[in-house]
Amino acid sequence: MPLPELSPVLSEAEIKNRVSALARQISADYQDEPLVVIGVLKGAFVFMADLVRSLTIPVEIDFIKASSYGTSDTSSGEVRLSEALETDLKDRHVLIVEDILDTGQTIERLTASIARYRPRSIRVCVCIDKKERRKTDFEADYICFSVDKGFLVGYGLDYAEQYRYLPAIFALKNSTSEEAK
Ligand code: 5GP
Ligand code: MG
Repeated sequence: MPLPELSPVLSEAEIKNRVSALARQISADYQDEPLVVIGVLKGAFVFMADLVRSLTIPVEIDFIKASSYGTSDTSSGEVRLSEALETDLKDRHVLIVEDILDTGQTIERLTASIARYRPRSIRVCVCIDKKERRKTDFEADYICFSVDKGFLVGYGLDYAEQYRYLPAIFALKNSTSEEAK
C-alpha cells in the first residue's frame, strides 16, 4: 500500500522557536518548585525531549503510555493506560506532556488517573491543540500550537506507526481529521 502524500504544516524552525518560548514560560512559572514532567507515550516523545532540554529548572522525568483502541476513526473515550510510573507523585507538582489534544477524552482520563496519586498540582502541556472535535470542557495549561484541522504526522506523531521520525509536522493529504488514530 503506498504511503499517503504529506503537506507541510509546521517547520523545524517554527517548532524550535515556539518550544523554546514555551519552555521559558514553564521555567518561570515553576521556578524553584520541584517539578515532575510526565510524557505520554508514544506520540509525545520528541516534543518532550525538546521541551525538557529547553527548561532552565531541574525536573524529574517519567512516562505513561496511553493508546486509543477500538474502531479507527473515533477516540471513543476508550483509552488504555499502562501506568508504570516509578516516581512518587504525592505532594509534587506534575506537568503532563501530551502530543495532541483533540476530543479531550484521553487527557481527561489521564489527569483523573494521575490525580489518584495526590500530587500537589497537575497541569497539562500539549504540542498541538485541535479544538474542532473537542467533546469535553478540557483546556490545556500550555499549548505549543493550535491547529484547526487535518490529521497530523511527524515530530513523534504517527499514522499507523509511520512518520514519527520526521523532524517537522505535516498533514496527510486528502484526509480529514477523521482518519485512523
Ligand atoms: P483525544 O482523546 O483528545 O480525542 O485524542 C487525543 C489522541 O488522539 C492524541 O494523543 C493522539 O494520539 C491522537 N490524535 C488526535 N489527533 C491526531 C492527529 O492529527 N494525528 C495523530 N497522529 N494523532 C492524533
Ligand atoms: Mg496520544
